[in-house]
Amino acid sequence: MKKGRLIVISGPAGTGKGTVVNGLMERERYALSVSATTRAPRGFEQDGINYFFKTVEEFEEMIKNGEFLEYAKFVDNYYGTPKKYVLDKLEEGKNVLLEIEVQGALQVKKNYPDATLIFLLPPSMDELESRLRGRATDSEETILKRLARAEEEMSYKDKYDYQVVNLEVEQAVEEIENIINNLK
Ligand code: 5GP
Repeated sequence: MKKGRLIVISGPAGTGKGTVVNGLMERERYALSVSATTRAPRGFEQDGINYFFKTVEEFEEMIKNGEFLEYAKFVDNYYGTPKKYVLDKLEEGKNVLLEIEVQGALQVKKNYPDATLIFLLPPSMDELESRLRGRATDSEETILKRLARAEEEMSYKDKYDYQVVNLEVEQAVEEIENIINNLK
């Protein structure tokens, strides 16, 4: 059987990654990897669905046991992709989506050169700032930290195989689908 493709999607917070990934998943042919993280669950997040929530000790044990395809620290927390699910799905011929940050994405590319890296861009940095500010619960300090981090992440965009501007969800989903469908 033909093996599936590994598709990595990154982009700074506020770019609309989550919405675009949901849009892609509605088309149903993809397996979505659930990451492990040491950060606390937000509001409605559920263990095993949004993330596998782990203590630092548990996460470091998983690192030691070689259970991650990639992992990284992002703003004080660990995030990592459990290897088994991804490799099983690829073996079954499914395309697997990873929604991860830039350091992890580059590790994936190094270890799996056939992976396809897609960077989702906001229409502009002004737009990104107003989206981040739209989350009214964040303090000015948090907003500025996230903006700085977003700018840092943007500097990695040229290392990706494709860049897609998220002007509108439907258009971004369509463009990403086309990229995946046209992979050789
Ligand atoms: P959040 O805390 O907002 O859910 O995620 C923060 C960042 O971590 C996002 O950029 C998200 O894409 C990234 N991320 C989520 N899971 C993983 C993972 O398994 N590995 C890596 N490297 N980054 C991840």
